[in-house]
Amino acid sequence: MFSDSNDPYAQGNTLRPSEQQRLDEANQLYEDGKAGQAAPLFARIAEVLTANRQAQRAANLHAQAAQAYAAGSDESAALTQARSALNLFLKLNVEKRTHYFYTSIRKELTRQGMDQAAEALTKEFAARVSPPAPAALSAAARLPANCPQCGAPVRISDAQGLDVSKVECAYCGTPIRPLI
Ligand SMILES: [Zn+2]
Repeated sequence: MFSDSNDPYAQGNTLRPSEQQRLDEANQLYEDGKAGQAAPLFARIAEVLTANRQAQRAANLHAQAAQAYAAGSDESAALTQARSALNLFLKLNVEKRTHYFYTSIRKELTRQGMDQAAEALTKEFAARVSPPAPAALSAAARLPANCPQCGAPVRISDAQGLDVSKVECAYCGTPIRPLI
């Protein structure tokens, strides 16, 4: 497991204000449906985070860049970013996160008609990405559909992957635990 300093939830913000602004801008563009414009910004911030030795955040940003490039119809850039994300996730040994991204990016690439990129990832990574332990999957399946505190629907975010120990209500922050 990682020490607290590597936990993305415990990290302080290591981006400079100009870089943080670029990240905010990228998130805004992405939310506005301008994925193609957001993608190179995500990719650039991933490079900055790599240089700052923030591997976990860098991997997440590469993953976001891959999703954005896929949505923005740039197959070869999507593949490059997906490779960077997967190689970093594998190096960090975050198995559930790796598997979650591996599955979701191939699904998205296929949905976008980018079959060659999806197949390339399968060829390169299938043997290296181990599926999450059945215990983790069944724990995820046992999460309540709604927050016990405020009733909001429970969503497992991309960043949380299938790590049920880190699921919180997106609205009120109440930790969500699997039902017994
Ligand atoms: Zn709640």
